[in-house]
Amino acid sequence: AIVLAIETSCDETAVAIVNNRQICSSIVASQIPVHQQYGGVVPEVASRQHLETINWAIAQSMEQAQLNWEQIDGIAATCAPGLVGALLVGLTAAKTLAILHNKPFLGVHHLEGHIYATYLSEPTLDPPFLSLLVSGGHTSLIYVKNCGDYKTLGETRDDAAGEAFDKVARLLKLGYPGGPVIDRLAQQGNPQAFALPEGKVSLPAGGYHPYDGSFSGLKTAVLRLVQQLEKNGGQVPVADVAASFQETVARSLTKRAIACALDYGLNTIAVGGGVAANSGLRKNLQAAAAKHNLRVLFPHLEFCTDNAAMIACAAAEHLSLGHTSPITLGVESRLALTQVMKLYQSD
Ligand code: ATP
Ligand code: MG
Ligand code: FE
Repeated sequence: AIVLAIETSCDETAVAIVNNRQICSSIVASQIPVHQQYGGVVPEVASRQHLETINWAIAQSMEQAQLNWEQIDGIAATCAPGLVGALLVGLTAAKTLAILHNKPFLGVHHLEGHIYATYLSEPTLDPPFLSLLVSGGHTSLIYVKNCGDYKTLGETRDDAAGEAFDKVARLLKLGYPGGPVIDRLAQQGNPQAFALPEGKVSLPAGGYHPYDGSFSGLKTAVLRLVQQLEKNGGQVPVADVAASFQETVARSLTKRAIACALDYGLNTIAVGGGVAANSGLRKNLQAAAAKHNLRVLFPHLEFCTDNAAMIACAAAEHLSLGHTSPITLGVESRLALTQVMKLYQSD
């Protein structure tokens, strides 16, 4: 099916058209420069920016794909989770187009989009597989049984992986967003320079939860380290700190993903979300997977962070199963991935 999708859950205004797992066009208008002056995303500013950009992005996406409205089989938008005001802009635009052109309408769960971003680079991938979802707001290990059928096997107990990158970048005064800057700096640093805690989660009975993680202790350890280095009067070796931090995150995510895949007998790990772009994680996970005869798949770099092609891809999967959403569907700031089928009715 050919699907046009809109993604406005946070700070990118994105519109894309896919033919199942093949991209026809993908427009991503990032608001990062607008939010940078505030050091993070300002919700009200994001909504306004989406409003100003959305019509242009839709027109651009149709133009780039060289398609007309008769050729589109369905129209989708991210409806949860995310910033409510931001989501509303995309959802309202998608509903309007669906009514205007008399097309099926689908609301899409943002994280389902991140999971299916890997389909765009690996069109032959099919469930079951393990998804390692590492984004700005989430860090989860998800058993993907089928389209719409997910089981969360592990998650972070506090900060998400991307959030940890952003917070550590802030305390190193590297600006926002932190992931890409730390990744770049880390390549010039020594990952063994400083030993940092991996963040294991204790079980009441002693021992450790094998798949849950924690990043807030690591962030605090980096803060203490930087304070200590500053107190000693020397210059903070930022590249070494960045490299050591990145290595610790990569190691901790890799350990849990590999253990989980082996325990559940899943031979493929598909990584998704902004942190899937991280070079340290890619290297670490690929090396460990090769040792255990597991396959690791990543989206192309540009489809790790937010985009609409991944949303269109998830919508196309649902549409092909006969799933559509009621035109009265609303947005939700939070919605568990296990609840996605609430968004659809079957015809
Ligand atoms: P969510 O998807 O959970 O709602 P989000 O949409 O804000 O959150 P994404 O767009 O998936 O998150 O990813 C953005 C995050 O990815 C930011 O925290 C950013 O710092 C991080 N990130 C981007 N590139 C890299 C990189 N190369 N290395 C590490 N982190 C990165
Ligand atoms: Mg973003
Ligand atoms: Fe995202």
